[in-house]
Amino acid sequence: MIRFSLVCENSHEFESWFASNDSYDFQIDNNLVCCPQCNATKVSKAVMAPAVARKDRPKAAPAKARDGAKQAAKQSVALLGAADRELRDMARELHAKIVAATVDVGAEFPQEARRIHDGDAPERPIRGQASIEEARALLDDGVSVLPMPVLPEDRG
Ligand SMILES: [Zn+2]
Repeated sequence: MIRFSLVCENSHEFESWFASNDSYDFQIDNNLVCCPQCNATKVSKAVMAPAVARKDRPKAAPAKARDGAKQAAKQSVALLGAADRELRDMARELHAKIVAATVDVGAEFPQEARRIHDGDAPERPIRGQASIEEARALLDDGVSVLPMPVLPEDRG
């Protein structure tokens, strides 16, 4: 059980016991807590402040804090969206850089990569297709291969 100091919209202060923070939130959200003096159901946690400062206490502070938390949640979703766009831009940019800096050997990639690694072909950056098994085999043999960044439009 938790005891909270509460204040109603008419600034009446009272105390109430709750099973938990969640129980408090549920009861407040559903207007189940009412002021013993005026029966108002707009009730929030009283700001813990020294008695001297009580007169200046902003009545709506706890409600504002809750709105703030909701806003923060919305913002983080927006941030994820922005990061996602940024990642897509980075992938596109990296993809373009790789394309510009490498020679496309197509399906010959696994063989050509191995030839370069073994010194049988001139060393140069190449790109092409390889299956996961082929890429893994190259890595096992110490050939550094990197997956190309997948472009969003390639995902279908
Ligand atoms: Zn009241």
